[in-house]
Amino acid sequence: TEESTLSIVVVGASGDLARRKIYPALFALFIEDRLPENFTIFGYGRSIMTDEELRNIISKTLTCRVDKRCYFIELCLNFESIFIWYVFTNYVFLFVLITLILRDYRENCDEKMDAFLKKCFYSSGQYSSEEHFLELDNKLKEKEAGRLSNRLFYLAIPPNMFVDVARCAKRRASSENGWIRVIVEKPFGRDTESSRELTRGLKQYLSEDQIFRIDHHMGEELVENLLVLRFSNLVFEPLWSRNYIRNVQFIFSEDFGTHGQGRYFDNYGIIRDIMQNHLLQIIALFSMDTPVSLDAEDIRNEKVKVLRSMKPVQLEDVVVGQYKGDCDGIRCYPGYTDDMTVSNNSLTPTFAAATLFINNARWDGVPFLMIAGKALHSKRAEIRVQFRHVPGNLYNRNFGTDLDQAGNELVIRIEPDEAIYLKINNKVPGLGMRLDRSDLNLLYKARYPREVPDAYERLLIDAIEGERRLFIRSDELDAAWAVFTPLLKELEEKKVAPELYTYGSGGPLGVHYLAAKHNVRWGDFGYED
Ligand code: NAP
Repeated sequence: TEESTLSIVVVGASGDLARRKIYPALFALFIEDRLPENFTIFGYGRSIMTDEELRNIISKTLTCRVDKRCYFIELCLNFESIFIWYVFTNYVFLFVLITLILRDYRENCDEKMDAFLKKCFYSSGQYSSEEHFLELDNKLKEKEAGRLSNRLFYLAIPPNMFVDVARCAKRRASSENGWIRVIVEKPFGRDTESSRELTRGLKQYLSEDQIFRIDHHMGEELVENLLVLRFSNLVFEPLWSRNYIRNVQFIFSEDFGTHGQGRYFDNYGIIRDIMQNHLLQIIALFSMDTPVSLDAEDIRNEKVKVLRSMKPVQLEDVVVGQYKGDCDGIRCYPGYTDDMTVSNNSLTPTFAAATLFINNARWDGVPFLMIAGKALHSKRAEIRVQFRHVPGNLYNRNFGTDLDQAGNELVIRIEPDEAIYLKINNKVPGLGMRLDRSDLNLLYKARYPREVPDAYERLLIDAIEGERRLFIRSDELDAAWAVFTPLLKELEEKKVAPELYTYGSGGPLGVHYLAAKHNVRWGDFGYED
């Protein structure tokens, strides 16, 4: 409302997360008019900076997209000089018109940027100093000017500072008449014990509904859409069980390594970095039962239920790998241990494939296969649902095709190029009977030309509006750690050496054996080396 104010405090204002994700997402929300009328952004950190210096940092992270649908104008801006040259030498009238549009666009855009930057301020201080948070509180009060104040703290700092900041923020910079919410990013500990300790630490000062644990993949369009797909289409939900689904694959691959940023990664590894949180969250949404309602607590209750039905992952159901360097004649790609921030004899996996089972009536015996890896041949995140064979398939019998072997497959591609497609068997048009495997394809770019919002935009607006559906509750976190903690301990205790794979390949060969063990064929991931 007009009488209330929102203060967003970015703690760790000079960091990578703040620059790459938080400021651009806040600006995008601002230009889409999604932020409240009276808001301010406060950067907080140990670095000494003026407001102007922070604004400088922020302005470098912003791209001016006044209307995301203006692809044409954006294109003109990118190729402006070539375009002007071309237009000038050919059509003077068009040149004048386009220049006017561009000028108007630029002015509008600069105005928006200026207006946004004017709302950004900085307060410097230590993360464990209540006195410095009191100074921040005074500055916040000055901007809030006696109105009802809501305060959102985004902790974009190393996790060992989370509890200190929660203490100082709650004791010295809490809102007196509105709400206080605190967003924290993974990692939430390294195992069950450390995660519980972090939760205990935060809960000394904050209640559960004041803590917003972000898993930014939960803010992705297609992850959000999973529930819509499952629960608002009659064709999918009746098939969503062991009766019709043979296996499900969750694939998350990156086509780059750690590139000198290995220090953080080496302490965690791919299982903690991707599987225990992102992939498990997606599996929970995929496999949970129908919630009572779309209310956050009802959805999270169902997620906890299914997470608690998961069997802890066994060592024999896991393949771990680590990438080694490769030269392709043009370029050389460094191996993981060539990273200066990683020790030469590191056993940290940069790749893992695992099979997970859910012990409940719906999913008993269905393998859920996961792959997460760095320095692979492609960047992609997708879910592949492989359906059972058609019993007594007429076509297989009468025409000797091997189509039945392939079966139907539903693919939900989160990136690149969001898409949902269903592989079906289809008759090739013409005389005679030839079958073909074809796709029913929903390509987002073609169907929804509007740009898909960034995950951080969605999560920030949800935190501001108090919508907790996409954030992780502490019992969920605990249940998720229980699935992986025994495996992580065993890997470390037994010092399991990861299988080496070449940079840019399909990962270690063991992946084939893992799939074969469960009679599974990987979807079109191209596991040929
Ligand atoms: P970062 O750049 O390393 O650090 C953020 C800020 O924290 C720094 O600008 C620095 O600000 C302060 N800081 C750094 N090291 C510190 C230390 N040892 N003790 C106290 N303060 C320190 O971190 P980040 O990449 O932005 O990530 C922030 C948090 O988000 C971390 O928990 C990270 O795990 C998580 N996260 C990040 C990403 C990402 O894309 N970067 C993705 C997922 C999760 P001052 O010196 O000014 O105090």
